[in-house]
Parts: sequence; structure tokens; C-alpha cells
Amino acid sequence: MNITILGSGTSQGVPIIGCSCSTCQSSNEKNKRLRASAFIETKGVKILIDTSIDFRQQILRAGITDIDAVLFTHHHVDHIFGMDDLRQINQRLNKFIDIFGNETTMNEISITFRYAFDEELIKYKCVPLININRIKNEPFTFKGIEIIPIEVFHGRIKIFGYRIGKFAYITDCSYIPESEYNKFENLDALVLNSLRRAPHPTHFNLEQAVEKAELFKAKETFFTHITHDLEHEQVNSELPDYIKLSYDGLKINIKD
Ligand SMILES: [Zn+2]
Ligand SMILES: [Zn+2]
Ligand SMILES: [Zn+2]
Repeated sequence: MNITILGSGTSQGVPIIGCSCSTCQSSNEKNKRLRASAFIETKGVKILIDTSIDFRQQILRAGITDIDAVLFTHHHVDHIFGMDDLRQINQRLNKFIDIFGNETTMNEISITFRYAFDEELIKYKCVPLININRIKNEPFTFKGIEIIPIEVFHGRIKIFGYRIGKFAYITDCSYIPESEYNKFENLDALVLNSLRRAPHPTHFNLEQAVEKAELFKAKETFFTHITHDLEHEQVNSELPDYIKLSYDGLKINIKD
């Protein structure tokens, strides 16, 4: 299984427009963060997590030309607003793309992308062609790949992370119920959100993310959904070896 981190930034991205802080002004490419998303290729199946607002730029940069499914974590703008650009894959490969998410996420996407359900527009393929799949917090199979939703809290809303094989991806999380802890056992790689140093009502801060990384003990944990508060080299130098900030373009390889 090959995973590519397409974006490691929080909702504003890094650099933040107009910000003159040292992270935003840094010339280190690892401090340039598009909005959070990841791409997974396993057994020939191509799975995207979230269509970030930077989706077009991200898939051009990563050289991705095909996607079989999108797993949505939740409906916030930074995670869904790139979906219109699925059109290019729909048109070129003449296919609909399956999208998955919980009831709230799929309902909100249906409202935000209302035009994508207009039959006339679908006929001319000028809208993203999607099949909506409302999933519960139960494992399901897509093209032979077992996908395990992980239900976590983002402030007060319940959202999904996902586990595939020995890889798990959690973003925008502020609380993980203990009943979900078993889904983090025996992971080779965990991607987990870590916003900044100061606490935040709807996201783990660095200290909380480290605490969870130490609890779950994946072979490697990579933090994502990061603000300009966390300078890449500085923060990595403070972290244990098996915990690191991710960065745009990071590739993670896991034996199937
Ligand atoms: Zn977000
Ligand atoms: Zn800044
Ligand atoms: Zn969010």
C-alpha cells in the first residue's frame, strides 16, 4: 500500500495570506501546506481521502490520473470544496466515482453540490459524476478492499477517520471515544491531526496528538492539519523518533 500526503495544512493552509511569521515566510518546502488530504493506492485500487479545496493543484502535483473512490471525513469547506474537479476524471475515463461518508457528511455534500444531481447536467458530464454512499460506523468492502470507519468527535460533531489494513487516517479530531481504541491496534502508520501548541475546542493540539500517538503506538505516526504555529524542523526536533510532522508530498509505504 502506498500513501501520499497531498496536503498537511489546516483550513487556511500555510503560508497564511498576509502573514509575516517565520513559518509563513520560510523557504523550506515542508512549511508549505495545502489543505488536508491523502491518496491511497492498494491492490490496484485508488482511494482519495477528502477532496480538499486545493484538490486540483494536489493531484496535478502528485501525478494522479485516476481515482476509484473518495472517503470523506466530514463536510467542512477545506475537506470538500475541490470536488468539482472530479469532472476531469469522470470525463476522461467515462466513469462515476463512488463517494463515502456518514449521513451528515453526505447530506451536507448533497446540499453544497446540489447542481451535481441535475439530470440534464449529468447527461452532458459538466458536473462531478458521483455515487453517494451513506455509511455507518461499520466495516465495508470496496473493490475487495476492507475499509473500517473510525468514529471520532470534531468538537460536537461526529466525523469519520478510516483504517485500511495497517494504515489509519484521522483528521479534525478533538476526542476519540475509548470504544474506538481497538481500531488503532497494530498499525504500521497512523496519520493524526495536530493543529498547534495552544489548545483548540475542535482539534487536538500538539500535546494531545503526542499523547494519542504514544497511546496507540503505531510504528510511525505523522501529524497533519497543521497551522503556521508548528515550524517543521523545530517541532520534529522535539518529537520522539516514531512521531513526525507530515508534509505535502510525503510518501508512506506499507507492506500489504
Ligand atoms: Zn479541516
Ligand atoms: Zn504565519
Ligand atoms: Zn473540520
